[in-house]
Amino acid sequence: MCYYVVLIQIITGERVGKMKPAELSLIRHYLGKTQEHIARALCVSIKTIQAYEEGRRAITPNCEKQIYLLMALKTRAGRPNQKPCWEIKKCPEEWRIVCPAWEYRAGDLCWFINGTSCGGVFKNTWKDKIHHCRKCEVFGNIIPALIPEAE
Ligand code: SF4
Repeated sequence: MCYYVVLIQIITGERVGKMKPAELSLIRHYLGKTQEHIARALCVSIKTIQAYEEGRRAITPNCEKQIYLLMALKTRAGRPNQKPCWEIKKCPEEWRIVCPAWEYRAGDLCWFINGTSCGGVFKNTWKDKIHHCRKCEVFGNIIPALIPEAE
């Protein structure tokens, strides 16, 4: 990808998620992982994890998604019968048929899938989507809030 495109994405926030540096550190401890373990899981260097946790680098959407996925899978291991999002949110058929979470039967991992039609509204960037999802009961049911949502 062109350097200027990446730069514009950074400036506009498209390449940045919602996770804060302190939150990543708390989550890592919640998962019982060292920086080395998390670096391996995210396919980045230990220096990158240190830079994320110290706030010297913005956590990328891809790393943010992977971390949430690890937390969700940890929760799921102890709760195999989680309801899918469309049941919890009681989505009408007109929302479901255009939503990839329903199309791919993502269950309670809907927050991981881009382009969902939550409440009948599409979110076009990861930042907007995760901002919305972090306030949603589906996300809250499976991903424990280690730090309260800051507005
Ligand atoms: S707002 Fe997010 S977590 Fe809630 S149902 Fe939609 S995709 Fe899932």
